Amino acid sequence: MKQRINKKAPFLVIMAMEEEAELLIKTFKLKLQKKPFGDYLPMKTFHGELPSGRPVYLVLPGKDRRFKVNLVGTQLAAVTSAFSINKYMPSAVFNFGTCGALKSKAAKIGDVFYCTDQVWFHSRRIPLPGYDEFSRGGYPCAPLPSLKKKLKVKTGVLSTTDSLDFCSVESERFFDLRADIADMEGAAIAWMADIYRIPFYALKSVTDLMDIKQKPGDQFLKNFQLAVGNLTVQASRLLRSLD
Ligand code: SAH
Repeated sequence: MKQRINKKAPFLVIMAMEEEAELLIKTFKLKLQKKPFGDYLPMKTFHGELPSGRPVYLVLPGKDRRFKVNLVGTQLAAVTSAFSINKYMPSAVFNFGTCGALKSKAAKIGDVFYCTDQVWFHSRRIPLPGYDEFSRGGYPCAPLPSLKKKLKVKTGVLSTTDSLDFCSVESERFFDLRADIADMEGAAIAWMADIYRIPFYALKSVTDLMDIKQKPGDQFLKNFQLAVGNLTVQASRLLRSLD
């Protein structure tokens, strides 16, 4: 099916945590829009323009009303994507965030990965005909061979889970899918972009190594600022290059 191609159609950026987005919001001088999706939904939109005048919308899932934490994970990633794609009708969807990676594959804290091929789920298991493949996801990422030189990134395959720890059942599926990096939103956003047939781009910066002894949560907190700094540099370059 044909994509709607409008050269100045907006870019939509979806991120999971406010703290991840702060630097990008500053870089592009984005302004907060009040209640973009009505009184009840917690999502937040920041709006601005890229150098060519193209509108850019950065949408965050917002905070949990009870626990006051960012609504990380696939539920709000899907809701955020559905509502914001429907409202802003972007020509491209971007997901920028943090991830876990593998020391055994030479990944380092602060590496930024450009996600290639397809985005998978390694926390869904439905061993029934047809549903097995469905549970793995496998939603397309936009290929970007010529631009890669402008970016200081590694390339890798992203898989999504609903948990931060890397338990053995999930890691088995992760390796089976030949994934390189793990997050908690990518596949949900890529799925919605695929439903609307809009190109999906993802950059993920490594906060933790999943195959070392130190707990991912402790690594995450320690390495977060470094990872976000590197992520913002590459994300800004990607947006400007495609603008
Ligand atoms: N402990 C953090 C919680 C963040 S949840 C805090 O105190 O705020 C982890 C977020 O980082 C998710 O949005 C997810 O996409 C990403 N992430 C980083 N490392 C991950 C990993 N190893 N597995 C899954 N998601 C990871």
